[in-house]
Amino acid sequence: VKRNPGEVEFHQAVREVLESLGPVLVKHPEFGTQKIIERICEPERQIIFRVPWQDDQGQVQVNRGFRVEVNSALGPYKGGLRFHPSVYLGIVKFLGFEQLFKNALTGMPIGGGKGGSDFDPKGKSTSEIMRFCQSFMTELYRHLGEYTDVPAGDIGVGTREIGYLFGQYKRITNRYESGVLTGKGLDWGGAQARKEATGYGAVFFLNEMLGVRDDSVDGKTCVVSGSGNVAIYAIEKLQQLGGKVVACSDSAGFIHDPKGLDLALIKQLKEVERRRIADYITARPRARYVPNGNLWDVPCQLALPCATQNELNGKDAVQLVKNGCIAIAEGANMPTTPEGVRVFAEAGVAFGPGKAANAGGVATSALEMQQNASRDVWDFAFTEKRLAVIIKGIHQRCYETAEEYGAPGNYVKGANIASFIKVAHAMVALGVV
Ligand code: NDP
Repeated sequence: VKRNPGEVEFHQAVREVLESLGPVLVKHPEFGTQKIIERICEPERQIIFRVPWQDDQGQVQVNRGFRVEVNSALGPYKGGLRFHPSVYLGIVKFLGFEQLFKNALTGMPIGGGKGGSDFDPKGKSTSEIMRFCQSFMTELYRHLGEYTDVPAGDIGVGTREIGYLFGQYKRITNRYESGVLTGKGLDWGGAQARKEATGYGAVFFLNEMLGVRDDSVDGKTCVVSGSGNVAIYAIEKLQQLGGKVVACSDSAGFIHDPKGLDLALIKQLKEVERRRIADYITARPRARYVPNGNLWDVPCQLALPCATQNELNGKDAVQLVKNGCIAIAEGANMPTTPEGVRVFAEAGVAFGPGKAANAGGVATSALEMQQNASRDVWDFAFTEKRLAVIIKGIHQRCYETAEEYGAPGNYVKGANIASFIKVAHAMVALGVV
Protein backbone atom coordinates (compact mmCIF):
# COMPACT_ATOMS: atom_id res chain seq x y z
CA VAL A 1 0.00 0.00 0.00
CA LYS A 2 2.86 2.36 0.84
CA ARG A 3 4.63 1.50 -2.40
CA ASN A 4 1.54 2.18 -4.54
CA PRO A 5 -0.33 4.99 -2.75
CA GLY A 6 -3.94 5.68 -3.69
CA GLU A 7 -4.32 2.70 -6.01
CA VAL A 8 -7.30 1.28 -4.13
CA GLU A 9 -8.59 -1.10 -6.80
CA PHE A 10 -5.08 -2.51 -7.26
CA HIS A 11 -4.76 -3.07 -3.50
CA GLN A 12 -8.16 -4.81 -3.47
CA ALA A 13 -7.25 -7.15 -6.33
CA VAL A 14 -3.84 -8.02 -4.85
CA ARG A 15 -5.26 -8.61 -1.36
CA GLU A 16 -7.90 -10.98 -2.74
CA VAL A 17 -5.26 -13.10 -4.48
CA LEU A 18 -2.77 -13.07 -1.59
CA GLU A 19 -5.45 -14.18 0.87
CA SER A 20 -5.72 -17.44 -1.05
CA LEU A 21 -2.00 -18.21 -1.18
CA GLY A 22 -1.00 -19.21 2.37
CA PRO A 23 -1.14 -22.99 1.77
CA VAL A 24 0.62 -22.61 -1.60
CA LEU A 25 3.66 -20.97 -0.03
CA VAL A 26 3.84 -23.74 2.56
CA LYS A 27 3.84 -26.36 -0.17
CA HIS A 28 6.25 -24.42 -2.43
CA PRO A 29 8.89 -22.67 -0.29
CA GLU A 30 10.85 -21.90 -3.47
CA PHE A 31 8.18 -19.33 -4.42
CA GLY A 32 9.08 -17.47 -1.23
CA THR A 33 12.85 -17.56 -1.68
CA GLN A 34 12.44 -16.55 -5.33
CA LYS A 35 10.33 -13.56 -4.21
CA ILE A 36 7.61 -14.51 -6.68
CA ILE A 37 4.89 -12.49 -4.94
CA GLU A 38 7.02 -9.33 -4.78
CA ARG A 39 7.93 -9.74 -8.45
CA ILE A 40 4.36 -10.43 -9.57
CA CYS A 41 3.10 -7.32 -7.75
CA GLU A 42 5.60 -5.12 -9.56
CA PRO A 43 4.60 -4.81 -13.25
CA GLU A 44 7.42 -5.41 -15.70
CA ARG A 45 6.75 -2.05 -17.34
CA GLN A 46 4.30 0.85 -16.84
CA ILE A 47 3.84 3.30 -19.69
CA ILE A 48 2.00 6.60 -19.18
CA PHE A 49 1.69 9.06 -22.04
CA ARG A 50 0.03 12.22 -23.27
CA VAL A 51 -2.78 11.88 -25.82
CA PRO A 52 -3.45 15.23 -27.48
CA TRP A 53 -6.30 15.48 -30.02
CA GLN A 54 -8.60 18.04 -31.59
CA ASP A 55 -12.37 18.02 -31.05
CA ASP A 56 -14.92 18.94 -33.72
CA GLN A 57 -14.76 22.60 -32.70
CA GLY A 58 -11.04 22.64 -33.35
CA GLN A 59 -10.23 22.86 -29.65
CA VAL A 60 -7.18 20.96 -28.41
CA GLN A 61 -7.97 18.30 -25.80
CA VAL A 62 -5.48 16.38 -23.68
CA ASN A 63 -6.00 12.94 -22.15
CA ARG A 64 -3.73 10.49 -20.42
CA GLY A 65 -2.91 7.09 -21.92
CA PHE A 66 -1.73 3.97 -20.07
CA ARG A 67 -0.31 0.57 -20.84
CA VAL A 68 0.78 -1.59 -17.93
CA GLU A 69 2.74 -4.67 -19.01
CA VAL A 70 2.35 -6.83 -15.94
CA ASN A 71 4.05 -10.13 -16.66
CA SER A 72 5.33 -11.98 -19.73
CA ALA A 73 6.43 -15.28 -18.17
CA LEU A 74 3.75 -17.18 -20.09
CA GLY A 75 3.69 -15.24 -23.35
CA PRO A 76 3.31 -11.76 -24.86
CA TYR A 77 1.38 -9.26 -22.74
CA LYS A 78 -2.31 -9.61 -23.50
CA GLY A 79 -5.25 -7.59 -22.19
CA GLY A 80 -7.72 -4.93 -23.22
CA LEU A 81 -7.82 -1.16 -23.47
CA ARG A 82 -10.44 0.76 -21.48
CA PHE A 83 -11.66 4.25 -22.41
CA HIS A 84 -13.61 5.68 -19.48
CA PRO A 85 -13.26 8.92 -17.45
CA SER A 86 -12.61 6.88 -14.28
CA VAL A 87 -9.41 5.33 -15.69
CA TYR A 88 -6.21 6.02 -13.73
CA LEU A 89 -3.13 3.97 -12.90
CA GLY A 90 -4.81 2.07 -10.02
CA ILE A 91 -7.60 0.78 -12.30
CA VAL A 92 -5.22 -0.23 -15.09
CA LYS A 93 -2.95 -2.05 -12.62
CA PHE A 94 -5.82 -3.93 -11.00
CA LEU A 95 -7.11 -5.00 -14.41
CA GLY A 96 -3.64 -6.05 -15.54
CA PHE A 97 -3.05 -8.01 -12.35
CA GLU A 98 -6.36 -9.88 -12.76
CA GLN A 99 -5.58 -10.41 -16.43
CA LEU A 100 -2.31 -12.19 -15.69
CA PHE A 101 -4.06 -14.87 -13.64
CA LYS A 102 -7.04 -15.10 -15.97
CA ASN A 103 -4.75 -15.68 -18.93
CA ALA A 104 -2.86 -18.35 -17.01
CA LEU A 105 -6.15 -20.15 -16.31
CA THR A 106 -6.96 -20.39 -20.02
CA GLY A 107 -3.94 -22.65 -20.47
CA MET A 108 -2.87 -20.58 -23.49
CA PRO A 109 0.56 -18.98 -24.01
CA ILE A 110 -0.31 -15.39 -23.12
CA GLY A 111 1.05 -13.05 -20.45
CA GLY A 112 -0.83 -10.24 -18.72
CA GLY A 113 -1.27 -6.53 -19.43
CA LYS A 114 -3.91 -3.84 -19.62
CA GLY A 115 -4.24 -0.26 -20.79
CA GLY A 116 -6.56 2.58 -21.60
CA SER A 117 -7.26 6.23 -21.14
CA ASP A 118 -9.37 8.65 -19.10
CA PHE A 119 -10.95 9.71 -22.41
CA ASP A 120 -14.78 9.69 -22.24
CA PRO A 121 -16.27 8.35 -25.49
CA LYS A 122 -19.81 9.37 -24.44
CA GLY A 123 -21.23 12.09 -26.65
CA LYS A 124 -18.20 12.16 -28.97
CA SER A 125 -18.64 12.09 -32.73
CA THR A 126 -17.20 9.28 -34.82
CA SER A 127 -14.53 11.65 -36.15
CA GLU A 128 -13.51 12.61 -32.62
CA ILE A 129 -13.27 8.95 -31.64
CA MET A 130 -11.11 8.30 -34.70
CA ARG A 131 -8.77 11.22 -34.04
CA PHE A 132 -8.41 10.18 -30.42
CA CYS A 133 -7.63 6.55 -31.35
CA GLN A 134 -5.06 7.69 -33.92
CA SER A 135 -3.31 9.91 -31.39
CA PHE A 136 -3.39 7.16 -28.76
CA MET A 137 -1.80 4.66 -31.15
CA THR A 138 0.79 7.16 -32.39
CA GLU A 139 2.46 6.77 -29.00
CA LEU A 140 1.48 3.22 -28.10
CA TYR A 141 2.54 1.49 -31.34
CA ARG A 142 6.24 1.41 -30.37
CA HIS A 143 5.41 -0.83 -27.40
CA LEU A 144 3.25 -3.33 -29.30
CA GLY A 145 3.81 -6.32 -31.55
CA GLU A 146 2.39 -9.79 -32.01
CA TYR A 147 5.31 -11.24 -29.99
CA THR A 148 5.44 -8.34 -27.52
CA ASP A 149 2.11 -6.90 -26.45
CA VAL A 150 -1.32 -7.49 -27.97
CA PRO A 151 -4.19 -5.26 -26.76
CA ALA A 152 -7.92 -5.86 -27.23
CA GLY A 153 -11.12 -4.01 -26.25
CA ASP A 154 -12.71 -3.38 -22.87
CA ILE A 155 -15.17 -0.74 -21.59
CA GLY A 156 -15.57 1.94 -24.26
CA VAL A 157 -13.42 0.09 -26.79
CA GLY A 158 -15.26 -2.10 -29.31
CA THR A 159 -14.74 -3.12 -32.94
CA ARG A 160 -14.99 0.49 -34.17
CA GLU A 161 -12.19 1.69 -31.89
CA ILE A 162 -10.03 -1.39 -32.56
CA GLY A 163 -10.42 -0.58 -36.27
CA TYR A 164 -9.11 2.97 -35.88
CA LEU A 165 -6.28 1.78 -33.64
CA PHE A 166 -5.34 -0.98 -36.06
CA GLY A 167 -5.50 1.37 -39.05
CA GLN A 168 -3.07 3.76 -37.40
CA TYR A 169 -0.72 0.94 -36.32
CA LYS A 170 -0.66 -0.35 -39.88
CA ARG A 171 -0.01 3.12 -41.28
CA ILE A 172 2.87 3.92 -38.93
CA THR A 173 4.62 0.56 -39.14
CA ASN A 174 3.78 -0.30 -42.76
CA ARG A 175 2.99 -3.84 -41.55
CA TYR A 176 -0.30 -5.70 -41.86
CA GLU A 177 0.45 -7.36 -38.58
CA SER A 178 -3.02 -8.67 -37.84
CA GLY A 179 -1.94 -10.44 -34.65
CA VAL A 180 -1.09 -7.14 -32.95
CA LEU A 181 -4.66 -6.38 -31.81
CA THR A 182 -7.63 -8.66 -31.20
CA GLY A 183 -11.33 -7.98 -31.40
CA LYS A 184 -10.91 -6.95 -35.03
CA GLY A 185 -13.81 -6.90 -37.51
CA LEU A 186 -14.54 -10.10 -39.42
CA ASP A 187 -13.52 -8.52 -42.74
CA TRP A 188 -10.05 -7.51 -41.57
CA GLY A 189 -8.54 -10.29 -39.50
CA GLY A 190 -11.11 -10.72 -36.75
CA ALA A 191 -12.30 -14.07 -35.45
CA GLN A 192 -15.78 -15.51 -35.45
CA ALA A 193 -17.29 -15.64 -31.94
CA ARG A 194 -14.81 -13.17 -30.42
CA LYS A 195 -17.53 -10.55 -29.91
CA GLU A 196 -19.74 -13.14 -28.22
CA ALA A 197 -16.99 -14.94 -26.32
CA THR A 198 -16.87 -13.16 -22.95
CA GLY A 199 -20.63 -13.23 -22.40
CA TYR A 200 -21.07 -16.75 -23.78
CA GLY A 201 -18.12 -17.96 -21.72
CA ALA A 202 -19.54 -16.54 -18.50
CA VAL A 203 -22.76 -18.43 -19.11
CA PHE A 204 -20.88 -21.63 -19.97
CA PHE A 205 -19.00 -21.28 -16.68
CA LEU A 206 -22.26 -20.68 -14.82
CA ASN A 207 -23.77 -23.77 -16.39
CA GLU A 208 -20.70 -25.82 -15.38
CA MET A 209 -21.06 -24.67 -11.76
CA LEU A 210 -24.77 -25.53 -11.82
CA GLY A 211 -23.95 -28.89 -13.40
CA VAL A 212 -21.93 -29.84 -10.32
CA ARG A 213 -25.17 -29.35 -8.39
CA ASP A 214 -27.21 -31.34 -10.92
CA ASP A 215 -28.84 -28.16 -12.10
CA SER A 216 -28.68 -25.92 -15.18
CA VAL A 217 -29.58 -22.49 -16.58
CA ASP A 218 -32.73 -23.89 -18.15
CA GLY A 219 -35.90 -22.36 -16.74
CA LYS A 220 -34.12 -19.93 -14.39
CA THR A 221 -34.92 -16.26 -13.95
CA CYS A 222 -31.78 -14.19 -14.59
CA VAL A 223 -30.57 -10.63 -14.09
CA VAL A 224 -27.58 -9.20 -15.99
CA SER A 225 -26.02 -5.83 -15.23
CA GLY A 226 -24.73 -3.57 -18.00
CA SER A 227 -25.87 -3.56 -21.61
CA GLY A 228 -22.50 -3.49 -23.35
CA ASN A 229 -20.57 -6.18 -25.15
CA VAL A 230 -20.33 -8.67 -22.30
CA ALA A 231 -23.90 -8.17 -21.05
CA ILE A 232 -25.53 -8.50 -24.48
CA TYR A 233 -23.90 -11.85 -25.27
CA ALA A 234 -24.43 -13.17 -21.76
CA ILE A 235 -28.13 -12.45 -22.24
CA GLU A 236 -28.06 -14.14 -25.65
CA LYS A 237 -26.52 -17.37 -24.33
CA LEU A 238 -28.75 -17.41 -21.23
CA GLN A 239 -31.77 -17.20 -23.51
CA GLN A 240 -30.40 -19.90 -25.83
CA LEU A 241 -30.00 -22.22 -22.84
CA GLY A 242 -33.57 -21.64 -21.67
CA GLY A 243 -32.99 -18.90 -19.09
CA LYS A 244 -35.41 -16.00 -18.74
CA VAL A 245 -33.53 -12.71 -18.47
CA VAL A 246 -35.78 -10.08 -16.93
CA ALA A 247 -33.50 -7.09 -16.29
CA CYS A 248 -30.34 -5.30 -17.44
CA SER A 249 -28.89 -1.80 -17.00
CA ASP A 250 -26.47 0.93 -17.94
CA SER A 251 -24.79 3.54 -15.76
CA ALA A 252 -28.00 5.65 -15.67
CA GLY A 253 -30.55 3.03 -14.56
CA PHE A 254 -32.11 -0.37 -15.23
CA ILE A 255 -34.97 -1.88 -17.20
CA HIS A 256 -37.22 -4.63 -15.84
CA ASP A 257 -39.28 -6.64 -18.29
CA PRO A 258 -40.85 -9.54 -16.35
CA LYS A 259 -41.94 -11.29 -19.56
CA GLY A 260 -38.29 -11.50 -20.63
CA LEU A 261 -35.99 -8.98 -22.34
CA ASP A 262 -36.26 -8.41 -26.09
CA LEU A 263 -32.62 -8.90 -27.06
CA ALA A 264 -33.03 -7.88 -30.70
CA LEU A 265 -34.29 -4.52 -29.50
CA ILE A 266 -31.40 -4.10 -27.05
CA LYS A 267 -28.89 -4.91 -29.81
CA GLN A 268 -30.52 -2.36 -32.12
CA LEU A 269 -30.44 0.33 -29.40
CA LYS A 270 -26.93 -0.33 -28.10
CA GLU A 271 -24.93 -1.77 -31.00
CA VAL A 272 -26.51 0.03 -33.96
CA GLU A 273 -27.97 3.30 -32.67
CA ARG A 274 -25.64 3.72 -29.64
CA ARG A 275 -28.56 4.89 -27.49
CA ARG A 276 -29.33 4.54 -23.76
CA ILE A 277 -31.08 1.54 -22.18
CA ALA A 278 -33.89 3.91 -21.04
CA ASP A 279 -35.02 4.03 -24.69
CA TYR A 280 -36.10 0.37 -24.40
CA ILE A 281 -39.43 1.35 -22.85
CA THR A 282 -40.37 3.58 -25.79
CA ALA A 283 -40.64 0.43 -27.90
CA ARG A 284 -41.74 -1.86 -25.04
CA PRO A 285 -44.09 0.11 -22.77
CA ARG A 286 -44.85 -3.10 -20.80
CA ALA A 287 -41.36 -2.82 -19.23
CA ARG A 288 -40.37 -0.36 -16.54
CA TYR A 289 -37.28 1.84 -16.42
CA VAL A 290 -35.87 2.79 -13.04
CA PRO A 291 -33.40 5.69 -13.24
CA ASN A 292 -30.53 5.30 -10.73
CA GLY A 293 -32.31 2.21 -9.39
CA ASN A 294 -30.62 -0.78 -7.83
CA LEU A 295 -30.76 -3.65 -10.31
CA TRP A 296 -29.88 -6.22 -7.64
CA ASP A 297 -33.26 -5.69 -5.95
CA VAL A 298 -34.92 -7.45 -8.90
CA PRO A 299 -35.64 -11.05 -7.80
CA CYS A 300 -33.69 -13.70 -9.71
CA GLN A 301 -32.09 -17.13 -9.37
CA LEU A 302 -29.00 -16.33 -11.44
CA ALA A 303 -27.15 -13.01 -11.42
CA LEU A 304 -24.40 -11.93 -13.81
CA PRO A 305 -22.65 -8.64 -13.04
CA CYS A 306 -21.32 -7.59 -16.47
CA ALA A 307 -20.75 -3.82 -16.13
CA THR A 308 -17.84 -2.68 -13.96
CA GLN A 309 -15.79 -3.11 -10.77
CA ASN A 310 -17.44 -2.98 -7.33
CA GLU A 311 -20.96 -2.72 -8.71
CA LEU A 312 -22.34 -5.41 -6.35
CA ASN A 313 -21.75 -4.83 -2.62
CA GLY A 314 -22.47 -6.71 0.59
CA LYS A 315 -25.97 -5.29 0.93
CA ASP A 316 -26.81 -6.22 -2.65
CA ALA A 317 -25.53 -9.75 -2.01
CA VAL A 318 -27.74 -10.08 1.07
CA GLN A 319 -30.74 -8.96 -1.00
CA LEU A 320 -29.93 -11.38 -3.82
CA VAL A 321 -29.65 -14.31 -1.37
CA LYS A 322 -32.91 -13.29 0.27
CA ASN A 323 -34.59 -13.26 -3.15
CA GLY A 324 -33.48 -16.83 -3.85
CA CYS A 325 -30.36 -16.32 -5.97
CA ILE A 326 -28.36 -19.57 -6.22
CA ALA A 327 -25.44 -18.69 -8.51
CA ILE A 328 -23.32 -15.75 -9.68
CA ALA A 329 -20.98 -15.57 -12.65
CA GLU A 330 -18.86 -12.43 -12.94
CA GLY A 331 -18.80 -11.27 -16.56
CA ALA A 332 -17.09 -8.03 -15.47
CA ASN A 333 -13.74 -7.74 -13.70
CA MET A 334 -14.02 -7.62 -9.88
CA PRO A 335 -17.68 -6.49 -9.92
CA THR A 336 -18.38 -7.96 -6.48
CA THR A 337 -16.89 -6.26 -3.41
CA PRO A 338 -15.05 -8.43 -0.83
CA GLU A 339 -18.11 -8.15 1.49
CA GLY A 340 -20.34 -9.38 -1.34
CA VAL A 341 -18.06 -12.35 -2.01
CA ARG A 342 -18.16 -13.22 1.70
CA VAL A 343 -21.98 -13.09 1.83
CA PHE A 344 -22.28 -15.43 -1.15
CA ALA A 345 -19.73 -17.86 0.30
CA GLU A 346 -21.53 -18.02 3.65
CA ALA A 347 -24.89 -18.55 1.95
CA GLY A 348 -23.53 -21.40 -0.20
CA VAL A 349 -24.20 -19.53 -3.45
CA ALA A 350 -22.12 -20.87 -6.37
CA PHE A 351 -19.76 -18.02 -7.17
CA GLY A 352 -17.68 -17.82 -10.36
CA PRO A 353 -15.05 -15.06 -10.02
CA GLY A 354 -14.27 -12.92 -13.06
CA LYS A 355 -10.79 -14.27 -13.66
CA ALA A 356 -12.35 -17.67 -14.31
CA ALA A 357 -15.87 -16.85 -15.50
CA ASN A 358 -14.98 -14.10 -18.01
CA ALA A 359 -11.81 -15.71 -19.39
CA GLY A 360 -13.65 -16.78 -22.54
CA GLY A 361 -12.99 -13.39 -24.13
CA VAL A 362 -9.24 -13.46 -23.86
CA ALA A 363 -9.13 -17.17 -24.71
CA THR A 364 -10.94 -16.44 -27.96
CA SER A 365 -8.57 -13.52 -28.54
CA ALA A 366 -5.76 -16.08 -28.37
CA LEU A 367 -7.67 -18.13 -30.94
CA GLU A 368 -7.85 -14.97 -33.10
CA MET A 369 -4.04 -14.62 -32.82
CA GLN A 370 -3.69 -18.28 -33.75
CA GLN A 371 -5.82 -17.79 -36.89
CA ASN A 372 -3.88 -14.62 -37.80
CA ALA A 373 -0.55 -16.40 -37.41
CA SER A 374 -1.60 -19.29 -39.62
CA ARG A 375 -3.50 -17.11 -42.16
CA ASP A 376 -6.58 -19.17 -41.45
CA VAL A 377 -10.24 -18.45 -40.78
CA TRP A 378 -12.40 -20.74 -38.66
CA ASP A 379 -16.19 -20.83 -38.70
CA PHE A 380 -18.45 -19.80 -35.84
CA ALA A 381 -19.53 -23.26 -34.71
CA PHE A 382 -15.94 -24.55 -34.57
CA THR A 383 -14.73 -21.52 -32.60
CA GLU A 384 -17.64 -21.62 -30.17
CA LYS A 385 -16.94 -25.29 -29.55
CA ARG A 386 -13.31 -24.49 -28.76
CA LEU A 387 -14.52 -21.80 -26.37
CA ALA A 388 -16.84 -24.24 -24.60
CA VAL A 389 -14.00 -26.76 -24.21
CA ILE A 390 -11.66 -24.09 -22.82
CA ILE A 391 -14.25 -22.94 -20.27
CA LYS A 392 -14.90 -26.53 -19.23
CA GLY A 393 -11.17 -26.89 -18.64
CA ILE A 394 -11.00 -23.68 -16.57
CA HIS A 395 -13.94 -24.79 -14.46
CA GLN A 396 -12.36 -28.17 -13.84
CA ARG A 397 -8.98 -26.62 -12.93
CA CYS A 398 -10.61 -24.28 -10.42
CA TYR A 399 -12.85 -26.97 -8.99
CA GLU A 400 -10.08 -29.54 -8.54
CA THR A 401 -7.58 -27.04 -7.15
CA ALA A 402 -10.13 -25.83 -4.57
CA GLU A 403 -10.65 -29.44 -3.46
CA GLU A 404 -6.91 -30.13 -3.34
CA TYR A 405 -6.33 -27.10 -1.12
CA GLY A 406 -9.16 -27.92 1.30
CA ALA A 407 -11.74 -25.42 0.05
CA PRO A 408 -14.21 -27.53 -1.97
CA GLY A 409 -16.63 -25.48 -4.06
CA ASN A 410 -14.65 -22.26 -3.52
CA TYR A 411 -13.93 -21.08 -7.07
CA VAL A 412 -12.23 -17.91 -5.82
CA LYS A 413 -9.52 -19.91 -4.08
CA GLY A 414 -9.39 -22.48 -6.87
CA ALA A 415 -8.87 -19.81 -9.53
CA ASN A 416 -6.31 -17.83 -7.54
CA ILE A 417 -4.23 -20.84 -6.55
CA ALA A 418 -4.26 -22.68 -9.89
CA SER A 419 -3.29 -19.58 -11.85
CA PHE A 420 -0.67 -18.38 -9.38
CA ILE A 421 1.09 -21.75 -9.38
CA LYS A 422 1.25 -21.76 -13.17
CA VAL A 423 2.76 -18.27 -13.37
CA ALA A 424 5.10 -18.92 -10.43
CA HIS A 425 6.49 -22.14 -11.94
CA ALA A 426 7.23 -20.31 -15.19
CA MET A 427 8.92 -17.44 -13.35
CA VAL A 428 11.13 -19.81 -11.38
CA ALA A 429 12.09 -21.63 -14.58
CA LEU A 430 12.98 -18.39 -16.37
CA GLY A 431 15.28 -17.22 -13.60
CA VAL A 432 15.54 -13.83 -11.92
CA VAL A 433 14.58 -11.63 -14.88
P1 NDP B 1 -18.87 -1.98 -22.72
O1 NDP B 1 -18.28 -0.63 -22.79
O2 NDP B 1 -19.31 -2.65 -23.96
O3 NDP B 1 -20.13 -1.96 -21.73
C1 NDP B 1 -20.01 -1.56 -20.41
C2 NDP B 1 -21.38 -1.56 -19.77
O4 NDP B 1 -21.24 -1.34 -18.38
C3 NDP B 1 -22.27 -0.44 -20.28
O5 NDP B 1 -23.61 -0.82 -20.21
C4 NDP B 1 -21.98 0.68 -19.29
O6 NDP B 1 -23.00 1.64 -19.16
C5 NDP B 1 -21.81 -0.09 -18.01
N1 NDP B 1 -20.88 0.63 -17.12
C6 NDP B 1 -19.60 0.97 -17.38
N2 NDP B 1 -19.09 1.68 -16.37
C7 NDP B 1 -20.05 1.76 -15.47
C8 NDP B 1 -20.13 2.37 -14.20
N3 NDP B 1 -19.08 3.03 -13.67
N4 NDP B 1 -21.28 2.24 -13.51
C9 NDP B 1 -22.34 1.58 -14.03
N5 NDP B 1 -22.32 0.99 -15.24
C10 NDP B 1 -21.21 1.09 -15.93
O7 NDP B 1 -17.79 -2.86 -21.93
P2 NDP B 1 -17.66 -4.46 -21.86
O8 NDP B 1 -19.00 -5.08 -21.93
O9 NDP B 1 -16.63 -4.86 -22.84
O10 NDP B 1 -17.04 -4.66 -20.41
C11 NDP B 1 -17.83 -4.85 -19.24
C12 NDP B 1 -17.00 -5.51 -18.15
O11 NDP B 1 -16.51 -6.78 -18.61
C13 NDP B 1 -15.75 -4.74 -17.71
O12 NDP B 1 -15.54 -4.97 -16.33
C14 NDP B 1 -14.64 -5.40 -18.50
O13 NDP B 1 -13.38 -5.24 -17.88
C15 NDP B 1 -15.11 -6.85 -18.45
N6 NDP B 1 -14.54 -7.72 -19.47
C16 NDP B 1 -14.71 -7.46 -20.81
C17 NDP B 1 -14.22 -8.31 -21.76
C18 NDP B 1 -14.49 -8.14 -23.21
O14 NDP B 1 -14.17 -9.06 -23.98
N7 NDP B 1 -15.06 -7.05 -23.64
C19 NDP B 1 -13.39 -9.49 -21.38
C20 NDP B 1 -13.35 -9.74 -19.94
C21 NDP B 1 -13.88 -8.86 -19.05
P3 NDP B 1 -22.84 3.08 -19.84
O15 NDP B 1 -22.98 2.85 -21.30
O16 NDP B 1 -23.92 3.90 -19.24
O17 NDP B 1 -21.47 3.57 -19.45
